[in-house]
Amino acid sequence: MERIYLDYAATTPCDARVVEAMRPYFSEKFGNPSSIHSFGQEAKKGLEDSRQVLADFLGAKPEEIVFTSGGTESNNFAIFGIAAAQEKKGNHIITSVIEHHAVSEPCKVLEKKGYVTTYVKVDKEGIIDPAEVKKAITDKTVLISIMQANNEIGTIQPIVEIGKIAKEKGITFHTDAVQSVGHIPVNVNELNVDLLSLSAHKFYGPKGVGALYIRKGIRINRLLHGGDQEKGRRASTSNVSGIVGMAKAIELCKEKLDEEAKFQSNLRDTLIKGLTAKIERVYLNGHSKLRLPNNINMSFEYIEGESMLLNLDMLGVAASTGSACTSSSLEPSHVLLAIGRPHDLAHGSLRFSLGRWTKKSDIDYLIEVLPAIVDKLRQMSPLYEKNETKNQKTQ
Ligand SMILES: *Cc1c(COP(=O)(O)O)cnc(C)c1O
Repeated sequence: MERIYLDYAATTPCDARVVEAMRPYFSEKFGNPSSIHSFGQEAKKGLEDSRQVLADFLGAKPEEIVFTSGGTESNNFAIFGIAAAQEKKGNHIITSVIEHHAVSEPCKVLEKKGYVTTYVKVDKEGIIDPAEVKKAITDKTVLISIMQANNEIGTIQPIVEIGKIAKEKGITFHTDAVQSVGHIPVNVNELNVDLLSLSAHKFYGPKGVGALYIRKGIRINRLLHGGDQEKGRRASTSNVSGIVGMAKAIELCKEKLDEEAKFQSNLRDTLIKGLTAKIERVYLNGHSKLRLPNNINMSFEYIEGESMLLNLDMLGVAASTGSACTSSSLEPSHVLLAIGRPHDLAHGSLRFSLGRWTKKSDIDYLIEVLPAIVDKLRQMSPLYEKNETKNQKTQ
């Protein structure tokens, strides 16, 4: 059976060209970049060339890039690092109700230590109003952290406007751009951000490597203490092969950014239209336009996302019910609840995320098989039966 992967938002396969670029750094270029000898210097060149590539992509300077172990570490570094560095200024953080747990959990940890967090709401389509962020600011606010694109519903936030507000008020502004980097244009100056998190495995690079952009002049405390790698901002021997892979991955994305986005958004819209036409009582979650080119998230009334997933998996289609991190728990998605979906619709959701190797025929296949799965599950659903008889009676 041919398997179809529609879960690129959870992780992407590593591009073969990325693996090729990484290969020498496991063998002949294995040196520790902190070593003075030629082995070390060879590795160091790979490291610093990669830093330049990433900086160029983001519109940043190389010294503003700190390599990390991924999106989670970058977010933790940004939040704990700024909170600690600006302890004297205040103890208030502004974030949103739809952040990834790698942002909201560090905030919760700080709350236990006396910090106060304001969770800005989103509208029914999952968009944050910059005016709400502005209203939340107090003289104790040290950090605003708002994601650029949501991992579950793909909504793209007005980061430019929020960045302007933060700048005006002199407040440090962080964005979790883990879902957007490699998929839409991301420029730290156009976005007015001071800190930005990214992760290689979300854009066809290896897992366990990422970066935090830190604007020059921003004071931040480190998370990891030890050696003086990354100019003392992050101890631990650099993951040279991973970093080289990440740089290659971003180069490949940059080459075809618009082309890939256009292709995927066409498939995205085809899928949304196809499923809406063939299935009753199905709702798109998130905004129809302010949305990642590769994200589809829909709720199917009367049935459970998990049952649909299992049925799809039997037909070789891999999708998700939301974020990979929460799909093992039975809690409904905090993002779907935040956009006002009732619990049953939050439970009855599916996320399809497309990528570099998604084909038109994959989407056609899904449009062909999903309606029958939904139909079968609805026939088994007591809720569906009750409502259908009620509807028939009122007709
Ligand atoms: C995947 C993801 C993360 C976590 O990144 P890791 O590299 O897996 O730690 C953080 N934020 C968002 C929005 C994500 O999609």
